[in-house]
Amino acid sequence: MPKDPTASSPGSQSSLREANRSRIIDAVKQFGGLTQVELAAATGLSTATVSTIVKELAVAGVVETETTSRSGRRALRVTLARQAGLVAGIHVGPRSLSVALGDLAHDVVAEQTLPLPADHRADTTLDRAALLVVDLLDRVGTDLDELLTLGVAMAAPVDPATGLLTVRGALRGWEDTPVAQVLSKRLARPVHVDADATLGALAEHRLGAGRHVQDLLYVRLSYGTSAGLVLGGRPHRGGSGAAGQLGHVQVDPAGPVCRCGNRGCLDTEVGENALLDLVRPALGEVTLRDLVRLARGGDPGSRRVLEDAANRVGQAAATIVTVLDPQLVVVGGELAQAGAIVVEALGESVRRHALPHRFAPVDVVAGGLGPRAELLGALELARSHTDVVEGVAW
Ligand SMILES: [Zn+2]
Repeated sequence: MPKDPTASSPGSQSSLREANRSRIIDAVKQFGGLTQVELAAATGLSTATVSTIVKELAVAGVVETETTSRSGRRALRVTLARQAGLVAGIHVGPRSLSVALGDLAHDVVAEQTLPLPADHRADTTLDRAALLVVDLLDRVGTDLDELLTLGVAMAAPVDPATGLLTVRGALRGWEDTPVAQVLSKRLARPVHVDADATLGALAEHRLGAGRHVQDLLYVRLSYGTSAGLVLGGRPHRGGSGAAGQLGHVQVDPAGPVCRCGNRGCLDTEVGENALLDLVRPALGEVTLRDLVRLARGGDPGSRRVLEDAANRVGQAAATIVTVLDPQLVVVGGELAQAGAIVVEALGESVRRHALPHRFAPVDVVAGGLGPRAELLGALELARSHTDVVEGVAW
């Protein structure tokens, strides 16, 4: 007969009951499904205590019980209650498509990333995204019936009223595609869309480098530059979903025409084309990914180009820091994969150009979630639209 901790252990009754509940839930999680007698053996609790707690957990909807037969005797088999459902996150990046399935406990249960060509087409990319969602559901042994909702991170700002991109040229060829409507028609589930930098900021705030702060600026250095804001613990999307377009801050009124139609935007100096033009004489035709890899490997020209770009972005970000006074600047996006070269150059530049603070100069750090921040943010967006998740900020 196993010793029953409820009978002999000191401590308050309620914390003991809580500890015993956890032991039982952990055992069911670990072994899948157990009879009450097996649960008693696995946890060291008496069968009477197990029976009482299982009844409470069943009423609370945490576990389910069914009558079964073991060695010819009737027994009550205990399993975890069927999960409340899954959510899907999609990140449509400039050169990649990532899809993930997550549960409501913030775990990712399946995930896949595919490369995309430059100027990928809206219809084929959304088609692949929908197929990938179905494929991942199949991989984890379920189907669309278990999918509650989807969140999509777009590499461009999205107008919540129309579901269309707010900045022409931000993602060429996608201007007239209502992303949420297309996917929701295809998968018969609600779809919520937001800018990837905003969702990167949200993910870093909830799960990554910004967990301890309420006001955060997320700078996303990618094929173009963008920013996401979390203010007072909530993502700030702006009046039309266009907040954070750091790459379209004008840095040279007489500069070249940007893809948005303005002149001299930051992206005309630090966007993909500008950076690749700078290294072409020395390195020939390389991709942005090559540039990051070369910089990590110590190539001086690649390092210099990324450092100078981070410095330039830091000057623009410093204006946001001066105006909004965030507690933390988090650096993400593909170029942040170059590591300290980029993060330190950006940090120095922000501190040099922002209003000097006597007591607490703003911290600039690398993202804690790496290149998955936007995808994890898309999952958070989807979760925030399920009515079973409490305390959401959306
Ligand atoms: Zn522009």
